[in-house]
Amino acid sequence: MVKLSAKCILAGDATVGKSALAQLFETDGAHFQKNYTMTTGVELILKSVAIPDTGDSVELFIFDSAGKELFTDVLEKLWIQPSVFCLVYDVTKEQSFTNCALWLERVRTKVQGMQIPGILVGNKTDLIGRRVVERTRAQEWATSQGLEYCETSVKMMENFETPFHSLARLFHQRYLEVEEIVQSLV
Ligand code: GDP
Ligand code: MG
Repeated sequence: MVKLSAKCILAGDATVGKSALAQLFETDGAHFQKNYTMTTGVELILKSVAIPDTGDSVELFIFDSAGKELFTDVLEKLWIQPSVFCLVYDVTKEQSFTNCALWLERVRTKVQGMQIPGILVGNKTDLIGRRVVERTRAQEWATSQGLEYCETSVKMMENFETPFHSLARLFHQRYLEVEEIVQSLV
């Protein structure tokens, strides 16, 4: 039975639903806040994820930050050495999708060439008539960047656990691979 810890950072434009997603995950689906003031400062969410078919678990340290901090030194410090990342966009906002390339770039400069597990999340799928980013397009881009892809509606509490479970699973998998290499050396 192995217990791992992973630092997870949330990236993406303001108002795409990063905080709503993290908070719903934290409370196991108990809280979707419709109108809350934007997060001020930094919030740390701690949550343990069991890895199926193993006795292992990954404790996720999810770092959420407010829109205000998105382009300041605070974020630069907060983003030091992430283990995994969750990149969120709003399926009704084209700009929030195209900006994902910029966010990804920013994440990559923080990990200096290391490949860390990441997932692209298309949120607000409940706004059916207002969708502008098609699933296949986002999926293709994610795949081309080596990212997993999933869609969520935090509002409808759909799939809100998937991104974090996927990241925990990928992180655990990476651990097993490294472990195997180490074992082969001794
Ligand atoms: P953040 O700036 O990325 O952290 O975004 P927030 O979590 O603060 O969410 C911004 C707004 O979008 C809030 O009013 C949320 O209630 C709303 N929101 C978040 N997720 C969804 C969703 O899945 N569907 C809809 N319709 N609204 C959402
Ligand atoms: Mg927020």
